[in-house]
Formats: sequence, structure tokens, C-alpha cells
Amino acid sequence: MADLSAAEGDRPPFGAARPDVVPYISCWSSEHRPPGLVVTRGAGIAYDDEGPYERDDLGVLWKRIGYSPGKGRPEFGKVHFLRQRRAMRKLLCQICGGPSDRGPEGTLWLVGEDAEDPELRKPGYVTTHPPLCVPCAVTSVGVCPHLRTRYLALRVRTFALTGVHGALYRPDGLFPVAYSAEGASFGSRRLSWVLATQLVMEFGEFTVVDLDAEHAAHRKRTEARHRIFGEGPTRAPR
Ligand SMILES: [Zn+2]
Repeated sequence: MADLSAAEGDRPPFGAARPDVVPYISCWSSEHRPPGLVVTRGAGIAYDDEGPYERDDLGVLWKRIGYSPGKGRPEFGKVHFLRQRRAMRKLLCQICGGPSDRGPEGTLWLVGEDAEDPELRKPGYVTTHPPLCVPCAVTSVGVCPHLRTRYLALRVRTFALTGVHGALYRPDGLFPVAYSAEGASFGSRRLSWVLATQLVMEFGEFTVVDLDAEHAAHRKRTEARHRIFGEGPTRAPR
């Protein structure tokens, strides 16, 4: 499995170079992680005081986290579990939270690989990073330490959510023990033993594209739209 180092949602900090750009999926200092005692229940884990919204529609238990984006300080290196989940499900841009760029060639993703990387050529390349819109992709490769040294822009035509990443537990009496940070695929027996922190997307067919060319095409499209619909741009196309 590639690109699954983000066990607790930690990522290389984004904000050092552009403190004004706070990614949609970043945590804020006001978003505390409420305590939650994990217990064994049936053939899996549960919170001892579990509420109705602690699991997703597949019954996966998610790590608790507060929700107050914009309050406090941005914590650039930490991914907010629920915004990452929302961005992956709705294919939102991980930086601005708007729609990611989707077209006939596929949805735009950036990966921290180089073109020769064999991981990328194996079937079932997975990522916990949501897609992007073109302007945010251009910003990201300039300021994100994870991507500044190497990145590939991909147009991904087929993809599917195939599992979650999080803390894997094993039974040990009443209180299960977290022993590893790993992925658990949907349908696997592991799924009921994972405390999820991120959704995992698997790529099928994709093409490596040139981000500068994507950016030029995006600017053309935006300018044409302004001409046709007479919209004065609220800001110059980035
Ligand atoms: Zn964006």
C-alpha cells in the first residue's frame, strides 16, 4: 500500500510558506479530540459511551474530534478526520473545500511520487489525500513540503473508496489494545477492529498530466466563461 503514512492524520506542514492558505482538511487548535474509552463489544471495538454519530454508514467507528474550523490557530500538519472523509466522499478540493476539478479526462489528484516510481504502476494505488481544483493544485506544489521536491499530477478516470486508515485493535480481555496504524479494507474482518481516521481511495485508470498545461487550460476556460456570461471576475483567475 502506497502513501499511507498518515496514521493519525499527520502530514508535513503546509503553512510555513503560505500561512494565509489553510487547507480545508487541516485541523484548528480549537478542535480538540474528546476522550473516548474503547472497549471490546461483540466481534469488534466500540466506545463505552458510544453515541449515534460515531460510526459511518458502513458501521466503521471513527476517532472523535471536535468541529470548529476557523477558530484558534490552524494546525497545518494535522488532518481533520471528518473533513478528510467529507472531501473524499464528495470529491471536494482538499485545500479550498470547493469542487475538485473533474472532466472527461478524469479527476485531478496530486501524488508525491515521481513518474518512474513502481508503486504508481502497480494495480491498486491508494491514497488518503483528497483531490484538488486546478488553482489549489498549483498553489500546493509551490508551498507543500510534501510535494515541493517531487509530485505528479494525475487525471484519474476510475477510482473507488476501498477502506479506511486508522488504529487497529486486537482483543485483550475487556479493553482491546491498539497495536498498529494501518489500513482496513471494506469487507475485511479488520474493519470492525479499526478506529478510523481517514478514508482510503484506490485508483484504477489514470493518466499523468502536466500541471502547467492544466493550469493554462483552466485559465482559458475561466476567461471564456467570463466572456460568454459577462461575469466580471470577482478575482483574476489564478
Ligand atoms: Zn481548491
